[in-house]
Amino acid sequence: MSTPNSSTTPSDRTCGHCGISASSLPEGSNLSQCSRCKSAFYCNRECQSAAWAEDKPHCKRQNFVLKFHLCPQYIVNPPVIRTLSVPATATLETLHKALQIAFGWAGTHAYDFAVLDPAFEPPTAAEYMEQGMKMDMRGDGMLGFEDPREYIVRVVHKPEEYVRGYKIDRMHEGRRRHPRTEERRSDRTKVYELWGEKGFADKAIEYTYDFGDNWVHVVTLEGRAPPTERIVCLSGTGHGVAEDIGSDQGWENLKKAYRTANPDKEQRFARRMYETKCINGDKRGLGDGREYEFKLEEVNAALARNGL
Ligand SMILES: [Zn+2]
Ligand SMILES: [Zn+2]
Repeated sequence: MSTPNSSTTPSDRTCGHCGISASSLPEGSNLSQCSRCKSAFYCNRECQSAAWAEDKPHCKRQNFVLKFHLCPQYIVNPPVIRTLSVPATATLETLHKALQIAFGWAGTHAYDFAVLDPAFEPPTAAEYMEQGMKMDMRGDGMLGFEDPREYIVRVVHKPEEYVRGYKIDRMHEGRRRHPRTEERRSDRTKVYELWGEKGFADKAIEYTYDFGDNWVHVVTLEGRAPPTERIVCLSGTGHGVAEDIGSDQGWENLKKAYRTANPDKEQRFARRMYETKCINGDKRGLGDGREYEFKLEEVNAALARNGL
């Protein structure tokens, strides 16, 4: 991805106020970079303050280039990936809306952005049962304080969020909730707060949509890019996955139903359901290599139309 001032070498940089060039500074001293936009340079604090009034409108944090890879271990042929360039101050609610468009999801289920706790060890089958019994006894729909914690932070939809007339049910989050997991609201959390230097960029971060089918999108920070007003989709592979298809295995089975020249009764039924009943189904089906189809221009047009 683009690096700030990639066209200039450190020695041709000049102070944004007094204009002194880096090469004419005394031995051992250097121009310092504006920590926010990373594209302006100054010889000292005084020069930076003097130039601030004029620079402020141009001084924007760089975008975050984020790659979202859906179920990377299980959905491989083709992989389903979208890479977005996202303004640093976009909220995670806005990012969620953009992801719904980029992946072709229908927005009918709950979601979160979660920072994984590297110390987490999955419980054994016996521990899992015991945790479940204690959860039922407490009745608060979350794990106990002493239970292993999977997530350090979860960024969740605002409490009053409705999806197609139904209030999102927190109980369905089940084991994702934990008394030691900090919950933040997606409409009050900005992209730089997760992926910025003071955020959690050193940790694994996932975007999960639909806690039933459990669509885990593994997020990778690919780099930074020049600031933009809106979210831009940079690239993608793979047709969007069907809602309520029964997790990654359900999607693999549906693709298989289209690859065969002689579908059996069950496969014909699966195709018909996908084309006529599925909320985000493709009426043309997934035959003729359509499972590989991804149209970048259409995604960007839809993002712009939705003001994202
Ligand atoms: Zn200066
Ligand atoms: Zn700046």
